[in-house]
Formats: sequence, C-alpha cells, structure tokens
Amino acid sequence: MKQLSNNYIDAATSTWQECRDFLRCHPFAILPLGATEQHGLHLPQNTDSLIAEALALQVGRESVGMILPTIPIGYSWVWRDYPGSLTFSFDTFRAVIKDIVVSLDRNGCRALLILTTHGANPQPIKYASRELVDHTSIRVLRAFYPNLSQIMTDADSTIWQNANFHAEEFETSLMLYLHPNLVDMTKAVSEYPPYSLAYEMSTLPMGALSESGVFGDATVATAEKGERWFNLCVANIAKVWKEFLDSPK
Ligand SMILES: [Zn+2]
Repeated sequence: MKQLSNNYIDAATSTWQECRDFLRCHPFAILPLGATEQHGLHLPQNTDSLIAEALALQVGRESVGMILPTIPIGYSWVWRDYPGSLTFSFDTFRAVIKDIVVSLDRNGCRALLILTTHGANPQPIKYASRELVDHTSIRVLRAFYPNLSQIMTDADSTIWQNANFHAEEFETSLMLYLHPNLVDMTKAVSEYPPYSLAYEMSTLPMGALSESGVFGDATVATAEKGERWFNLCVANIAKVWKEFLDSPK
C-alpha cells in the first residue's frame, strides 16, 4: 500500500516523481536498519527489522522524512554460530551505509536519520557517518533507542547489562504489540548469562554466553508494555530528529 502524505513518503512504493516532489519540499530521509539474527526460541530472526520498520514509519508520520526500505542485515558477528544468523563484515556494513548516503546526496537529500534497533549497528554507523561528513552535504543523525532506561522504568525485569539486552522483556513486548502472531510465548525464557571480564575485554562473543539466545527475562513481556514503550520510543526519536532538523549544524 502506498504511504503518502504532506510530511512523509514511503520511497519504495512511490514513483520517482513523487520522491522528487517530496524531497524538494522536505529534503530529509529516514533509514531503518535491522538485522537477521537469532532472537531466542520465541521470536523470529527478523525481530530487529520489523521493529525498525514500524518505528521509522511512525516517526515519519509524527515528524518528516522520506522513509527508505529497511536494510534487513546488519553487523551481527556475535551470533555467527547460530544457524540462520547473517552478518555483514564491519567494512561491508560501513560501505552499505556510505553508498546509501551518497545516493541520497545526489537525490537532493540534506539530512538523514539512521534508525537502528540492533545494538551492534551504531558503531559502524558512527564511523561511516564521520567519513561522510567530509565528502557530502548530508547531515546524519543516528538513533538506537535513545533514553531507554527512562522509558523502561516500569519494567518488571532488569536489563542483563548496561545497554546490552536481547530478546527479553523489551524486545518481546514490542513484538507482542506489533506482531503478536510471530511470538511464541510458550517458548519464552528468562536467562541471565554470567557477566565476565573475559566477555568485556576479549573477543568472546555474546553468543557463546547464552543457552537460549535470550539475555534478560522474556517471560514477563506483554503487549500493553510494548505499546506504551513503542509510543515513548517514537516520541523520543521524533523529538530529537525534529530538533536536529531545526538546528543549524
Ligand atoms: Zn533485537
């Protein structure tokens, strides 16, 4: 279904003339970056992509931007031993981002929101963006669940470790809200793999620490929490994006 309005447009289902006219009025784009990787025994591998796509569409509706197709593969090295998990190399992932930005630059786009829901993506995005500011006139903003600890103050479980979480209460709740038919709560578990300095200081991947692939408690997830947290995430990201567009630098 074609998504068109005054403040947002879906690039994939629109014509080139519609994209041209939109970018002339609003030279801004939103790029959802997901992943195809293990998400425990109860969530599909495209969990991050589905959440990124839903967030991008809603952020577009509540702010402004040409919404780009979701990139379904990211930097998922840590899950490389789980069958079905796919990863770009760090260099390939950076190159994908850079190629998209160069295309947008030529299209007349002047600001890009890269919205990712996969925790290992922000670093390659950050370094690709740094290189791009020297060669294009596009300003790039990257978002990975800003202010998540504030959003999750009413969570029923603790996050595994700092900003590290996976297939647990938060992601499972978002999926119960967005795509309940893809969640099998009979297989949801709570698992808190032991934290170790070896993990922090060596190349030990997260995937080697967990039995189920879950880092946190998925059993306490609900669609109600998912709806509330999804809307807070959208409001947060849309606010930062609008402030970014309003600022001169
Ligand atoms: Zn995820």
